[in-house]
Amino acid sequence: MDRLNGAPRLILVTDLDCTLVDHDDPENADMLRFNALWEAHYRHDSLLVYCTGRSYLSYLSLRKKKPLLTPDIAITSVGCKIVYGGESTVSDDDWEARLGDMWNRDIVLEETSKFPDLKLQQEKSQEQHKVSFSVDREPALEIMEILPGILLERGVDVKLVYSNDFAFDVLPKGAGKGGALTYLLEKFEVEGKLTSKILVCGDSGNDIELFEIPQAYGVMVSNSHNDLLQWREENAVDNPKIILASERCGAGMIEALQRFDLGPSISPRDVLDTQNFNVEIMDPAHEVVRFYLLYEKWRCGEVERPENYLQHLKSLSSPLGILEHPSGVEKPIHEWIDEMENLHGDEREIQFLIWLDQVSSSHVTSESWLVKFDKHELSEGKVRSCSTRVLLSFQGEQQKLTWMHIHQTWLDDSSSDDQDKWIF
Ligand SMILES: [Mg+2]
Repeated sequence: MDRLNGAPRLILVTDLDCTLVDHDDPENADMLRFNALWEAHYRHDSLLVYCTGRSYLSYLSLRKKKPLLTPDIAITSVGCKIVYGGESTVSDDDWEARLGDMWNRDIVLEETSKFPDLKLQQEKSQEQHKVSFSVDREPALEIMEILPGILLERGVDVKLVYSNDFAFDVLPKGAGKGGALTYLLEKFEVEGKLTSKILVCGDSGNDIELFEIPQAYGVMVSNSHNDLLQWREENAVDNPKIILASERCGAGMIEALQRFDLGPSISPRDVLDTQNFNVEIMDPAHEVVRFYLLYEKWRCGEVERPENYLQHLKSLSSPLGILEHPSGVEKPIHEWIDEMENLHGDEREIQFLIWLDQVSSSHVTSESWLVKFDKHELSEGKVRSCSTRVLLSFQGEQQKLTWMHIHQTWLDDSSSDDQDKWIF
């Protein structure tokens, strides 16, 4: 990965549905805890890899619905597609060419049509190198016994993956989540970018291959499906590198960081000091994550001493500091904070959330940093986003970082007539 100069400190590989994404939690609380932890403590030197059974299109539509961070790499379609990068993405054509060996989609469709139990999934779930069906467990197991042989006689070598008691994927032999991740790890090794700290996270049958990668630590979230739990009973119950978390979804992933001692495991969302604004950690990425959480708490009316709160917030920035609002208006940061008075608790009755994505910081001088990130704000069911740059200066006597300048630019089609409620 070009973003990092050397080997990453941690490579975190996670499944999405029912692992990072908890479909039973409309508030996405644990995902947001994970997001804040990742951006504050890991983004600058670690790699985030999503590894999903979803087709690429279906993955993109999930990203529109959930507050998912931008990954460094997305492995989609049960390992059949590898895409690098954030906003401008590049597919790995070498990997896809490799999957073309002994693969013929038309023959797969022809032979599988002879099994009436196999119901083809919707078009958006299909890919060039993945044919996906729905089928019950019993017929699935019977078909898995005979289908590979039938296809091999016709020159097609496949891997079958069955998950969640319904999803039946026919893939090229080398595909699968494990095949794709192994390919990536080999590539990192050649580039001198392999680390010994790799964590894989999953919840169901199509994640099994991830747990078979010997150098990786693995966490099965507490809500894992029976097919994965059964595999664990038979293969990994005594393996200290693979754990079953006591927490579900994103909380189980955070638990694994702590249990394997892979790095910080306390989310800034869990230790936010809204009374004294104390901070133990002097780090630009952590500073911006914390500031926006404080701002979110104010808008949600969740602060205990609102009369002192804005003064505290002002103390984080220079009296000379300027905020360039995405509308083009420029004013001192302290004036913008005064304007927050009317917005205390204005979002209390609705879901209001802020999350930062792709936080990066670089030294401008030995005592100042430029921090760049995308800020996303969910309000009244709509997400608005801003590309943001913040200049932070280290104040030696007070042992703190001070906000000197903020510049915001609307992202995508986020600009709207209702700009009064957007401050930071
Ligand atoms: Mg899953």
